[in-house]
Amino acid sequence: MDFLSKAIEEFDTHPKYSVIHFHAAVELIIKARLMHEHWSLIVAKGNEPDWDKFVAGDFQSVTLDEAANRLQRIVQSGLTQTEIESFRNIAKHRNKMLHFFHVADKSDQSLKQDIARQQLKAWYYLHQLIGERWRDVFASHSNKISEIDQELRGLHDFLQVIFDNLKAKILEAEYAGFVFTECPSCKFKAQEHEPDIEVIYVADCLVCGLIETCVKIECKNCNEVVTFSDEGHTNCLGCGAYHNHEDLAEALIDQGVAFIAAKEGNYDAYIGNCADCDGYHTVVQVKETETWFCTECFIEPKQMVTCEWCNELSSVDMEGSYVRGCNQCEGMSGWHEND
Ligand SMILES: [Zn+2]
Ligand SMILES: [Zn+2]
Ligand SMILES: [Zn+2]
Ligand SMILES: [Zn+2]
Repeated sequence: MDFLSKAIEEFDTHPKYSVIHFHAAVELIIKARLMHEHWSLIVAKGNEPDWDKFVAGDFQSVTLDEAANRLQRIVQSGLTQTEIESFRNIAKHRNKMLHFFHVADKSDQSLKQDIARQQLKAWYYLHQLIGERWRDVFASHSNKISEIDQELRGLHDFLQVIFDNLKAKILEAEYAGFVFTECPSCKFKAQEHEPDIEVIYVADCLVCGLIETCVKIECKNCNEVVTFSDEGHTNCLGCGAYHNHEDLAEALIDQGVAFIAAKEGNYDAYIGNCADCDGYHTVVQVKETETWFCTECFIEPKQMVTCEWCNELSSVDMEGSYVRGCNQCEGMSGWHEND
């Protein structure tokens, strides 16, 4: 948290140090989450964990990719691809700064805009991690976290020029039917949305470059359009009605085709289970495109395979599923245990 405060403090006067401190903060927060599980998890691969060396600081610690890997496999609370990508960019930027930064660049406005974009984006993901997904672990820092959130919003000012330059382009796109909403990261009304409902699309923020996978459906309660972003939960902005992955699935499946399949006894032909979020019946085959899409975690499985034991479709690897089962059943071995 100190490193984050430092990064904010130095942003305008010493952008180079702001980048370095921001990067250190990202790494430390991810390692802190691993360490909450067990201290040995932050010792780099190939090094024997040794408590005495650990407390003396005499050890090599994990890289970002190793840490992400362990969070997924051991802590079972991994980072999404977009999160990893945004943190990797922070690391790349830091290395560039360390080696190629010249004092003369210090007042360069476009450099500051670049840094502001990256830090806002990375903070958007980091804030979701420590404020939501890992909230329990970072609970004792919650005051500091909201303080930093407030301060980082100040970077918004550095992006005003970019937004001003985009105004004509945005207006043009609006004429063509695109809809712009406030970006959750930089707060400019620059997140570009497809006009059509019931299609999956990528919403790109023209100011900061934040990317979210979105789908819009009609509210089940009023006539407003409801937008889902990156997850299967949302509230209608018109009437407040809560919508979950089931509402989304219902809108995305071709009901006519699914009805015929069900009549033929093929009940689950258009619906399956997700290996990534462990969702039960959250993956659906999307009408027209016939691609698979998880309405809970928004990943798009390449293929769905039938479990040889329970016959459910799933995006999990089904090798040996007759014996071992899938993520929703225990296979034949589980059956015998219950005997
Ligand atoms: Zn943005
Ligand atoms: Zn509504
Ligand atoms: Zn999922
Ligand atoms: Zn199964």
